[in-house]
This record gives sequence, C-alpha cells and structure tokens, in this order.
Amino acid sequence: MQDKIRLLVIGAHPADIFDQSGGTMAHHTSRGDWVGCIVLTHGARIHDRVISDSMYHRSEVPEGDELSRMMAQRSDVKAREVVAACAIIGVHEQDIFFFGEDDAVLQVTKENVHRLASMIRQLKPNVVITHFPKEYGGIGNPHAVAGQIVMEALFLAAGVDPGDRHPPHRVAQVFFFGQGAAHVRSGLWSAEGGFYNDIFIDISDVAHLKIACLDAMFSQGYGGAYARKRIETSDGAMGDYAGVGYAEGFIRNHSTVCRYLPVSEMDLQKTQLSDHENIQRRSFKLDESKIPKVALIDK
Ligand SMILES: [Zn+2]
Repeated sequence: MQDKIRLLVIGAHPADIFDQSGGTMAHHTSRGDWVGCIVLTHGARIHDRVISDSMYHRSEVPEGDELSRMMAQRSDVKAREVVAACAIIGVHEQDIFFFGEDDAVLQVTKENVHRLASMIRQLKPNVVITHFPKEYGGIGNPHAVAGQIVMEALFLAAGVDPGDRHPPHRVAQVFFFGQGAAHVRSGLWSAEGGFYNDIFIDISDVAHLKIACLDAMFSQGYGGAYARKRIETSDGAMGDYAGVGYAEGFIRNHSTVCRYLPVSEMDLQKTQLSDHENIQRRSFKLDESKIPKVALIDK
C-alpha cells in the first residue's frame, strides 16, 4: 500500500493546473492524498473574456486607472473560477493559494523565489507538479519562467531563511507538465528536444470531471467546445500513446530510485489484453451525459 502523499501543483495561470493535471489531481484527492495548489499570477491578461478579448478590436483601451480597476475585478472572477473548479476534483478551498503576481511580465526574482520557498516550507509537499522550465526553450514563455521560479524556490526551501521559522523542506520528486514541452514540437524554441513524457497517468475515469473544471474556466474561453476539443486532441493523443482512453503526461525531474524495478499495475494489465482489447481500451470516449454541470461565475 502506497503511503499517502502531499501533492502541490503550481501553475503560472489560473487554468494551467486543470488543463495540465486536473485528472491526476482528481485521482490523488480520491485516494485521500492532500492536494494543494498555488496559482502564481492572477491571469487577468490571459485570454480573459473582458480584458484581452473585448479590448482586442477597440481603437483605444481605457485609461490606466480604469483598466487597472477592471483587471482587479477580472482577477477576482478568475480566482473564484479556480475555487469552483477545484471543488469538482476534491481540492479544498483552504488548500488553494493565490500568489498574486501580475501576469504582465513574470520573472525569476529574489522576492518571488523567497516567498514561494517559504510557502513550500509551510505546506511541506512530498511531490510537486509544475511547468517544464525549458518549455519552448524557456524564452518568452511565462510557463517556463514559472517552472524556473519553482525550481529555484525548491532549492531555497531545502535550507533555512532568516524571517521564516519553518524548518528546511525537501520534496521527493518534481513532475513537469508534459503537454507542450515534450509532446508536440510546434515552434523554433520547442524544437530543441532531448526530453519526453516518461510518465502517463490514465485519467479516463475522471476525464468528465476535468472537462467540468475547464467548463468552469468560462472567463478564459475554455468551457464548452474548447474543453471537449482539448481533451480529445491533447489528453486523447497522450492516451493513445499510453494505450488508454485519455492520459496526462509528465516528465520526471530526476530518476526514480527503487529497491525493485518499477512495473506499474497498468503496465502489467496491458500485457493481459489482446490486440483488439488494447484498441478497445484506447477507444474509450467521454460520455457527455456524465460531465457535471457547473454554475458559471462569469456570465
Ligand atoms: Zn498558462
């Protein structure tokens, strides 16, 4: 029996934790693990229905103060959407932390590294999931920067820091989101390569909950058709490689250390299936009627 773990998921923007690892989070909460999340930026600029979308075709955007006020309002909507989506996959409101960085220019600064390290010492996760620090070469990519901030903070958290009374803390493993970084190379900076998804989590049984999480991200434009397309094209493609219906891919930060060779229950199950049964397993499709209806915060 696997010991319970404390899993901390750290995303750059409000929707990232769900579209990259919502299914995996759902599995861990239902197993009884503690699952917490930190959203680094308010994300008001990231395809927000009001801020980015409605401003796009205007001839002029509102004055500075007015725009700042609107962005603060939109940040609040996004935060409430995160809380609603977390509830769907069993993550409690008290375990959701909004770091509050502006999503204008996310950078690795001493201030945000110290602050995140302090949170890690307090929350004491065994496992962290976050963005791949070299996503798209780590250039002009806030996801990559988020991954870099997390890695610097994990290093700092393993020691003491004046002003923080919490003792040093180390994590057993960091899993980086696979999508984008290792799956489909679609730009110059993602062509570097040398990495691949070495872990797939079969999320077929909770894919309907993941869709509901994305439906809750209405301000982001992720609900409805996009959520369904996203799950089919991304998690469906990962699932196809993994030999299951839908999967989330991850890249391990360092090699796993075991006493015995790690062979998963699912790897063994696969050997018991005929070719046609394997195709059948991969053919599993989401049943729309199973997707929970979410109350939209942003209407
Ligand atoms: Zn993002």
